[in-house]
Amino acid sequence: MDKEAITKIRNDFPILKQKINGNRLAYLDNAATMQMPVPILHKINSFYQTSYANVHRSVDTLGFNATKQYEEARGKVASFINAADANEIIFTSGCTDSLNLVAATYGEQNIHEQDEIVLTIMEHHSNLLPWQQLAKRKGAILKYIDLTESQTLDLDDVKKKITAKTKIVAIAHASNILGMMNPIEKVIKIAHQVGAVVVVDGAQAVSHFPVDVQKMDADFYTFSGHKMLAPTGIGVLYGKKQLLDQMTPYRFGGEMIDNVTKYNATWADLPQKFEAGTPNIIGAIGLGYAIDYLHEIGMNRIQTYENELSKYLMQKIEKLDFVDIYGPKENHTGVFSFNLKNIHPHDVATALDMQGIEVRAGHHCAQPLMRRLGVESTVRASLSFYNNKEDIDQLIAGISETEEFFNGTK
Ligand code: PMP
Repeated sequence: MDKEAITKIRNDFPILKQKINGNRLAYLDNAATMQMPVPILHKINSFYQTSYANVHRSVDTLGFNATKQYEEARGKVASFINAADANEIIFTSGCTDSLNLVAATYGEQNIHEQDEIVLTIMEHHSNLLPWQQLAKRKGAILKYIDLTESQTLDLDDVKKKITAKTKIVAIAHASNILGMMNPIEKVIKIAHQVGAVVVVDGAQAVSHFPVDVQKMDADFYTFSGHKMLAPTGIGVLYGKKQLLDQMTPYRFGGEMIDNVTKYNATWADLPQKFEAGTPNIIGAIGLGYAIDYLHEIGMNRIQTYENELSKYLMQKIEKLDFVDIYGPKENHTGVFSFNLKNIHPHDVATALDMQGIEVRAGHHCAQPLMRRLGVESTVRASLSFYNNKEDIDQLIAGISETEEFFNGTK
């Protein structure tokens, strides 16, 4: 995308024009949450002003139209990730909720004593704790795929850890720390050869490059709306129909039943079976608007532009010999985790904030990975398609300034 296109996009995000601590804002915490553009905010506002009503409950005009929009949003999500059927899309409250749903239903029904669940050492706690706790309940065995020396997924270890006893493999599509995409299709192929089901955490993928769940042959795929321009409190669970059909409901209540008697109940078909109670209506519809917006720009264009930005960042940050960068140096995504020697990451993040640069510091909900890297925490700067080279220049200058302030060197 050229400068003109980026300027046009940035105009949709007035928050980026704000000053933070008297400085130009460089918003580089997109892996945590992405900002929302004005066209989406307007559409959400307009929905509240003209169309707000509960869904699936009545035949009144407003209720009917709200239901229509809610279901249209499901269709948009299905085509966004190329699901075969809109009924394979379950709206949840977020990626965390989606992963818990799979562990509490598919996992609960299918994991038995001594079965093996294979994770990677880079998983976010959301894709680790549901499996860890399931394994404890069932007496199952947890195994972790390790990293190579260049801090990418070790494919030899994938082949070692996935065995005839493996029932579930849970893996991030893109890391929220290491700045890399996992070779998801290869892992899924290996898992399927032993009959294991693969749960892919797509939280850091969906707003950055095209995702095709059928091509990769994922059994489950999960993500959050707020990391792709939609509001918080909405997420998606994609599951293959034959798997979702076999799973018992996760939550019980209104709208998820077929028939209820005093002592028994039968369940509605997909997707309602997993959407008990009033759903996050505007969240789902807002997610649909977000998908329209992303489509307008084009996911391939977004990927190409973010790759260009991330190459630019890598070239600059690599030259700073007081910075340790985690993850591979080649094919880096827009997520950069790093530390400045002898400066605590929280101090770095505070110093950058003083200069208008919004990054994150901490363990990024991946403590086992932090231990594997031999650190307690890192600073993380993460890009999206509305960032520009000025943001990166500001980050690099900010890092140098921070080094100068704490260590007196550059
Ligand atoms: N997985 C990954 C890789 C993430 O980066 C995140 C968000 N930081 C999550 C899962 C959880 O997403 P949420 O908090 O929106 O449920």
